[in-house]
Amino acid sequence: MQATPPRALTIAGSDSGGGAGLQADLRTFFANGVHGMSAVTAVTVQNSVGVSDVSEIPPSVVAAQIRAVATDIGVDAAKTGMLATTEIIMAIVAACDEVGIGTSVPLVVDPVAASMHGDQLLRDEALEAYRTELLPRATLVTPNLDEVRLLVGIDVTNADEQRQAAKELHALGARWVLVKGGHMHHDPTCTDLLYDGNDFTELTGPRYDTKHTHGGGDTLAASITASLAKGTSVPDAVAHGKRFIERSVQASYPLGAGVGPVSPLW
Ligand code: PLP
Repeated sequence: MQATPPRALTIAGSDSGGGAGLQADLRTFFANGVHGMSAVTAVTVQNSVGVSDVSEIPPSVVAAQIRAVATDIGVDAAKTGMLATTEIIMAIVAACDEVGIGTSVPLVVDPVAASMHGDQLLRDEALEAYRTELLPRATLVTPNLDEVRLLVGIDVTNADEQRQAAKELHALGARWVLVKGGHMHHDPTCTDLLYDGNDFTELTGPRYDTKHTHGGGDTLAASITASLAKGTSVPDAVAHGKRFIERSVQASYPLGAGVGPVSPLW
């Protein structure tokens, strides 16, 4: 028998193709030596070419999953992924407040809005609940540039705009902000910007030439969450996450007729 490992919870949608969503989160937790748990928010009917249908889980069932694991197993860190609706977000917020997620337990908010194929994974009106309810509870928020535009209305094309976006997201209440620069395609490198309200840290790495990046954002946020579950500081968790996602992109593989996933196994 082994000792109980650190425990991490993903509050996220299911990807039937196994590339992104809670499936990516759970294998990333496992690859990082952390016990993974899931509160499912929505079931997507999905394969390598896209999402053809979404079925949302009743908000009370999402909240009950969070309470069930937190009160028995315990949660050392949590992350959110696809949350789908305002009602689901409000139920998650209430359950997280009850069990200390977002206060004593670190919470990583990955504000998933759409798949890389452009399939909508969040109702437009739910953006307001991200701004007013989730970001104030977030230890760290990890938007890509599309999500930055939706949340604070800034179309980031350069480093100055990336800093301005980080400041505005921090002003909404997130303690740390990681503005991911991977979608600035004119840039031969890939620079993510970390901000805590005082200092900016740039994390620059190579851009790898692969189309198989499905689940990349989930894998980065899940790797950071796993490190936080182990008690690592936010800057160290983000630095490890950056190396982890680079290796995972290098290890990506083709799948089906469309886009394959990044892989946390090297
Ligand atoms: N499907 C689900 C359930 C997700 O949670 C996500 C992203 O978080 C995606 C699809 C989209 O992943 P990608 O943008 O890598 O296609």
